[in-house]
Amino acid sequence: MVSANDLPYSVLVEFYEKIESTSSRLAMTDYLVSLFKRTPVDVLDKVIYLTQGQLRPDYEGVELGVAEKLTLRAISKATGVPVKNVEELYKKVGDPGVVAEQLLSRPKQAAGLLGFIGEEGTKRELTVSQVYNALMKIALASGEGSQDTKINTLASLLSDAKPKEAKYIVRTVTGRLRLGIADMTILDALAVAFTGSKAARDILERAYTKRPDLGFIAKELASKGIDTVKSIKIEVGIPILPMLAERLSDPAEIIEKLGGQCLVEYKYDGERVQAHRKGDKVWLFSRRLENITHHYPDVVSYMTSLKAEEFIVEGEIVAYNPDTGEMLPFQELMHRRRKYDVDKAMKEYPVRVYLFDVIYLNGEEMIEKPLPERRKVLESIVPEGSDDVLLSMAKLVDNPKDLLLFFEEAISEGCEGVMCKSVSAQSVYQMGARGWLWIKFKRDYRMEMTDTVDLVVVGAFHGRGKRAGTYGALLMAAYDPGSDTFKTVCKVGTGFTDEDLANLPKLLEPYRIPHRHPRVVSRIEADVWFVPAVVLEIIGAEITLSPLHTCALGKIEAESGLAIRFPRFTGRYRFDKKPEQATTEAELIEMYKSQRKTVLQQ
Ligand code: ATP
Repeated sequence: MVSANDLPYSVLVEFYEKIESTSSRLAMTDYLVSLFKRTPVDVLDKVIYLTQGQLRPDYEGVELGVAEKLTLRAISKATGVPVKNVEELYKKVGDPGVVAEQLLSRPKQAAGLLGFIGEEGTKRELTVSQVYNALMKIALASGEGSQDTKINTLASLLSDAKPKEAKYIVRTVTGRLRLGIADMTILDALAVAFTGSKAARDILERAYTKRPDLGFIAKELASKGIDTVKSIKIEVGIPILPMLAERLSDPAEIIEKLGGQCLVEYKYDGERVQAHRKGDKVWLFSRRLENITHHYPDVVSYMTSLKAEEFIVEGEIVAYNPDTGEMLPFQELMHRRRKYDVDKAMKEYPVRVYLFDVIYLNGEEMIEKPLPERRKVLESIVPEGSDDVLLSMAKLVDNPKDLLLFFEEAISEGCEGVMCKSVSAQSVYQMGARGWLWIKFKRDYRMEMTDTVDLVVVGAFHGRGKRAGTYGALLMAAYDPGSDTFKTVCKVGTGFTDEDLANLPKLLEPYRIPHRHPRVVSRIEADVWFVPAVVLEIIGAEITLSPLHTCALGKIEAESGLAIRFPRFTGRYRFDKKPEQATTEAELIEMYKSQRKTVLQQ
């Protein structure tokens, strides 16, 4: 007998079959509505998770995904069919669910070795709770003996299952139950099932952006009603759906769209993070709401340095070169996604966090406040002078020219572009929505630098950490024969071997002077200045416009010079070259233009 608080699993299976055979979205919603109406509230959440092929909301990270090999062994154990034969059948039909279904449909003389299979009639009727609990046991089994636990639990579940039930259990457990029901369709169906019409859909969707847990919302709705759902609050420890940006590529259009002015911020090339803190406990969630806390123990500790006990903030985690301070491209962060040796990865690939929004602070939701107010709140909780957790670089602009300048500065600093954000009274934090309050402005082309250049060392910056006592980065310049000056194009800190680094101070010592050399034109203040003498071969990712450097300043764009992005020392000291034989400003302008041409032709 199935208790009144539970649902026969066969009802869910019937529903799965109907869904699989329909191509109409409307029918899909109707089937869901009738399923929800039939489902006792106690198991409504389980029914919803199972329908999505999962056991808990995504952000809790409870993963099923049992390997096919293990599943086939469990099928063998439940049916008594040798593993070899099960595997053969699998090779033929390609779906472990169908394998389970077929093998369990065989006449009963093939009864399981373990005696699991009795007469069809003596099988207990499987309920949603039983299936769910068994799957949960399988998902949570870890460590020594977990394989056996998984196999045995699955085998025992299958031996209680009817063939069709087995098919869907196996598909669920292997992550192959793909009914393709969108979260939004489930919200539609919930609205109809429990309020009688789709009118309540907006309230449900709003609740979902604050708490992306359909099982929870469904249960609240079914047991307490729509008003309770309306009052669902943001909770620390549960991620909200992040705000998304529209895209434009014309600064004038952006300014106009944002009402004449906007806050323009560096668009960092890292990983978006939603950081939650309550006292000593910190959670980090990715853009897709996965819990990524364990990948970033350093970010966890940065968060405890913020001047508030309870908050949700948003920012970008960016990898950087500890010796030079330069930001590194996104790919470098992927090393931090390693499962093992997080501590080692943390040391080798240090990160910083640039915060750009606050969603919740000390019991209060911030999302309805306009951006300038949120930014002020954020400023008040970020510790001053920290190198690890900083505010995103931002500037209020009201004309396309300033926007473009800021954009170029962002690019030359290793960013992807800029985010332009509304500062109007309506500039709320739009959870889960892609709207025009945020507009991203990225370069839509990439200009590859194909050739190396020879640049002159004109200054240097002290190294830190591993590079204490030597230089962290060198300030490099191109030669301009017209004015007989050296104009800066990049800071280079990458590509040096330990030996190079150890020798640099000695090599450069003879040229060291207490001030900028008169033939050097620079907008950057170096820690140490040199007489232009030593030439190094450098390669970069591309040449970009930059307001920070003086090479070609005003020659392509009024306020911009040229910069080499992600520059690297190739290892070749060009002692054979005099500084006046270094790459010239004119050559760099040519390289920039031809790069651009190639890109525009692409
Ligand atoms: P989208 O998030 O728009 O779907 P996407 O994931 O490809 O697209 P992008 O197009 O690169 O992301 O642009 C948005 C992302 O930019 C954000 O998700 C965030 O990670 C990143 N970002 C970097 N700096 C900022 C900033 N200052 N403000 C907001 N987002 C920023």
